[in-house]
Amino acid sequence: MVLSIYDTFSRKPSEISSREGIVTMYCCGPTVYRDAHVGNLRTFLLSDLIARTIRLSGLSVEMIQNITDVGHMSDDFQEDKMLEQSKKEKIDPFEIARKYEDRFHHDLANLNIIAAQKYPRASESIELMHEMISELIQKGAAYVGEDKCVYFDAQSFAGYGQISGNRLDALKPGHRYEYVEDGAKKFHADWALWKAAGDRKEMIWDSPWGPGFPGWHIECSAMSLKFLHGHVNVHVGGIDLRFPHHENERAQSNSITGVESVDLWVHGEHLLFEGRKMSKSAGNVVLLDDVITKGFDPLSLRLCFLENRYRSQMDLSWQSISAAHETIKRWRSKVAGWGVVKNSDVDPAVLAYLENDLDTPRVITYLRALEKDAGASDVQKANAFAYADQVLGLDLTRAPEVRELPSDLKNLLKEREAARSAKNWARSDELRAALESAGLEISDSASGQSWSWR
Ligand code: AMP
Ligand code: ZN
Repeated sequence: MVLSIYDTFSRKPSEISSREGIVTMYCCGPTVYRDAHVGNLRTFLLSDLIARTIRLSGLSVEMIQNITDVGHMSDDFQEDKMLEQSKKEKIDPFEIARKYEDRFHHDLANLNIIAAQKYPRASESIELMHEMISELIQKGAAYVGEDKCVYFDAQSFAGYGQISGNRLDALKPGHRYEYVEDGAKKFHADWALWKAAGDRKEMIWDSPWGPGFPGWHIECSAMSLKFLHGHVNVHVGGIDLRFPHHENERAQSNSITGVESVDLWVHGEHLLFEGRKMSKSAGNVVLLDDVITKGFDPLSLRLCFLENRYRSQMDLSWQSISAAHETIKRWRSKVAGWGVVKNSDVDPAVLAYLENDLDTPRVITYLRALEKDAGASDVQKANAFAYADQVLGLDLTRAPEVRELPSDLKNLLKEREAARSAKNWARSDELRAALESAGLEISDSASGQSWSWR
């Protein structure tokens, strides 16, 4: 079998392409005006899942993920998200960018995401964008408006709309799919590659067309083609980016290269939290730090996502995170008991599930069945878990934590045992609460109380 992933463009599973054994991958990165929420992390984990599966199937990966720190306008199209946040926090916009960029890298490390080769920043790629915009003007795909903004001429690109199915002739004027509504565009579906500074005083650069700042879409064309040698084998992003972001990126990149610049467009579906879209106004935005603060292993989030197919919308809850936390704890202790495997052999079932459009739920079901299979040997089980973990990234071969119980907690446990013998249930409950808040998990049975670290 060969690795196939669903391609949004051709609307069918497609084989991964490569050159000389190397797959070039581009994943749309975060806009660093706030912490990434667990939904954003689902999309970033999708690119890690793809990269790990490509490596498992014997190819190498060269991956780039951009940092958007300028040009991404807020939903009401009034202001750059970076400048809006800079006003709120009363901090320089570049300081805001570095702060949230650091937190983004911290989240990736906590999620065991293998780092990309490079995380280029939009604000440091301005020259690159100027070069690309100049070339687009030369080729007749872009024009300078009377307002000193540079626009992409959507009608110059015959295949516009083929990723999302939004045909140019069906796009209505006035539809707010692009933030520049009133500029000097010639056609309503054109978009800005370079915006004139106007009243804006911060985050502006000189350019051949006067001072200004770049549009959001051009950064991904410029960085992907520059850092991936002019061709992208796999392009990853959340489903919301299909239109207009990726449609516009494709038009720009193909107008430069003259060929199809991306072989495979992969889109991850969105994450809901407890049945609802995450939003500030609904007050249900969950961060990875919230998961850690509640005492859960951050990799529990990884397992929750892997239990769902990347192309299905999924609902996350505290209950599912807690269950995943318990599963990982149990698996680590079982794997340690089965015996450590240094170089695992290929498990054909795991590989086949993954190569079939990343069917991770099947892999998890297979492992759960194997765990309980009395007919399978410990070596077989240890091998399958270690092999799958190269892609699952749950750190299953990590030795379970052995933590000495401090003497004050030992005393509380003894005291609780005495309270239970004396049938003093109120005191026993009080002591349970104290022990749990110190990080212990207590269970009672006919043979007495037992404990473990959470
Ligand atoms: P942003 O930082 O807003 O530019 O988004 C970063 C990435 O997260 C993009 O690929 C989005 O498509 C993706 N994304 C945004 N919201 C969600 C969500 N609720 N679930 C999954 N991915 C999302
Ligand atoms: Zn992008």
